Amino acid sequence: ARRKLAAGNWKMNGTSAMLAEIDTLARDHADARCEILICPPATLIARMAERAGPIAVGGQDCHAADSGAHTGDISAGMLRDAGASHVILGHSERRADHGEDDATVRAKAQAALSAGLVAIVCVGETLEQREGGETLDVISGQLAGSLPDDATGAAIVVAYEPVWAIGTGKVPTLEQIGEVHAHIRAALTDRFGPEGEAMRLLYGGSVKSANAGDIFAVADVDGALVGGASLKAEDFGGIVAAL
Ligand code: 13P
Repeated sequence: ARRKLAAGNWKMNGTSAMLAEIDTLARDHADARCEILICPPATLIARMAERAGPIAVGGQDCHAADSGAHTGDISAGMLRDAGASHVILGHSERRADHGEDDATVRAKAQAALSAGLVAIVCVGETLEQREGGETLDVISGQLAGSLPDDATGAAIVVAYEPVWAIGTGKVPTLEQIGEVHAHIRAALTDRFGPEGEAMRLLYGGSVKSANAGDIFAVADVDGALVGGASLKAEDFGGIVAAL
């Protein structure tokens, strides 16, 4: 069975004062059955990892190269060295703000795997694509282009994040989530066989404790990638409790 994963993406939020949230999470969820991950800004990774206890710490992006002349960038190996075990890749905000395409995401995922990080690869359609009936095709294309051929169930997590549901309070219906997750699972097992069956699929986009239980009951939803509601240990704790 796939172990459930509650992942928090702090995005560009958080200074040292917020490290206390990790202390609360570590204390409240010492015996959690699910895996709990927080991906803070890079500036907090090392300090967070030192006090995270059972909580895993991850990055929000990495460069595809090991090292070199790439001002402002961080490699997968550096994340690992700082205490990270995971990295989010291809988030729609990276795709939009930094022009990352599927090939970029795939190269980064390859680097993450080589460095021994678990890569959480994000896919998801825009509102225009959903309204145009293109959702499943868009997701298929993103998966085909963004995942490396040697992806394994242990090293790759796929997050379905409809762009229109991120930070908007709008959530797809449970049927829509189920349809996309079933589609992703089929694509993964088609390409990767049993490894694709073992990959965890997260839903992301306006998840809160009030809707988490219903979303987690949908087939092939193995957890959540949470933005806003991951910033406070109390809010995130409600989502963890629903898993
Ligand atoms: P919200 O939970 O704030 O909608 O953000 C979702 C997200 O983008 C997580 O990566």
